[in-house]
Amino acid sequence: MKLYNSASHKKEDFVPHEPGRVSMYTCGPTVYHFAHIGNLRSYIMEDVLEKFLRYDGYDVTRVMNITDVGHLSSDADTGEDKMLKGAQREHKTVMEIARFYTEAFFDDCKKLNIKYPDVVQPATGMIDSYIKVITKLIDTGHAYLAGGNVYFDTSKLEHYYVFNDHDEENLAVGVREGVEEDANKRNKNDFVLWFTKSKFEDQALKWDSPWGVGYPGWHIECSCISMKYLGEYLDIHCGGIDNAFPHHTNEIAQSESYLGHPWCKYWMHVHHLNTADGKMSKSKGEFLTVSLLEEKGYDPLVYRLFCLQSHYRKGLTFSWDNLDNARTTYDKLVARVAALKDEGAVDEAAAAPYKDAFREALGNDLNTSLGITRLYDVLKSGLNDATKRALVARFDQVLGLDLLQKAEALREKAAAQAAPAEGDGEIDALVAARTAAKKAKNFAEADAIREQLKAMGVEVIDTPQGPVWKRI
Ligand code: AMP
Ligand code: ZN
Repeated sequence: MKLYNSASHKKEDFVPHEPGRVSMYTCGPTVYHFAHIGNLRSYIMEDVLEKFLRYDGYDVTRVMNITDVGHLSSDADTGEDKMLKGAQREHKTVMEIARFYTEAFFDDCKKLNIKYPDVVQPATGMIDSYIKVITKLIDTGHAYLAGGNVYFDTSKLEHYYVFNDHDEENLAVGVREGVEEDANKRNKNDFVLWFTKSKFEDQALKWDSPWGVGYPGWHIECSCISMKYLGEYLDIHCGGIDNAFPHHTNEIAQSESYLGHPWCKYWMHVHHLNTADGKMSKSKGEFLTVSLLEEKGYDPLVYRLFCLQSHYRKGLTFSWDNLDNARTTYDKLVARVAALKDEGAVDEAAAAPYKDAFREALGNDLNTSLGITRLYDVLKSGLNDATKRALVARFDQVLGLDLLQKAEALREKAAAQAAPAEGDGEIDALVAARTAAKKAKNFAEADAIREQLKAMGVEVIDTPQGPVWKRI
């Protein structure tokens, strides 16, 4: 496949380190609040990448961290501690907050058909590994102690990696973010590997280390978790575009200095979902979550389709109108699939060009919207229904829209509406008996039957055309 690599700023042929196998690392959520649907756009698109690689025959191992310590609101080493802020907001401990929002995150992922990663590792579970890596970075002169903290020395690198949209001139993180700069830093881009002294005196989670009791910086977790589970050569590292700098830049600095050789080959960054009036927010305006979509009556998979309709390297604007359009498309797709009959045999030869076209679309830097067009091509084609169903099933292994399951549910619903439900015969008989009792002016009996029906959850309504009944 061809994948755009933000490290080279080019679309490249994807060639994994080991033939047939792919190691894939995803920056997981900071679990201080619910994920917003912007965060989930990133995870949906990364999920499509993983599923496409599997579809293409690769053996994929996917690892995700859970950030439950160390992430400050500026993404650099300044601002507020996100986990601490969450705990204070809810009067709970940091670990309670972490557990609750980790579970909530994976509930959302499940609803969006995002596969659970092969390995999920909370950052707090890897302290020994951070200490080992930081110790080596100090020993090799890549890190230094200042004011009680350990910093990575970016001046020791031949090249401090810069992803797109950033140049050396604009890398003064503290200044850029408009927050205070740390006087301990020798160079403006140095970053904290281990804090023993921070402004957060009430920091809840602390561990012993050779440099004193403290806690790790944010970036070190992803380097260590990735290297522990995926080894020294990583094929693909994913994240939202805001992670590219400084987070991923710093991951590269640490990992390559520690390993002494290049580390990750392909960097995949998903661009942001925004609202028309700006950035997604967890605090201002409407907090867009999967639960909110459900409350408003949307199937979460409609949101998945909405994401697939645009390319992951373009910004996407969310609005309820846009989501309504996606719902119309989704309902039409499901209805078309539901109309396919179960008969006939799959014609593999006739299916082949359609499979190739789908593969070509997704294999071209995940052109998901073209992939959906390819799905429509199948549904509109002259292929027999069995072949169409087989192709829908295959494409949906990547798209993850549950089309066959939803179509089946639609068919069952239609059948249930058409056919009398169990017990309807008995109700009809009782209604008829009541009508007969009324005709015979036996009102006591008619009323008794009405009560009996009520007890069965049925209401009788007398209309000029005769009695009708409905379940209450
Ligand atoms: P966080 O929970 O803040 O660590 O972010 C989780 C993931 O969501 C990261 O990969 C971010 O880069 C990504 N992300 C944050 N905001 C957005 C957004 N508006 N659209 C898409 N991805 C986002
Ligand atoms: Zn990360």
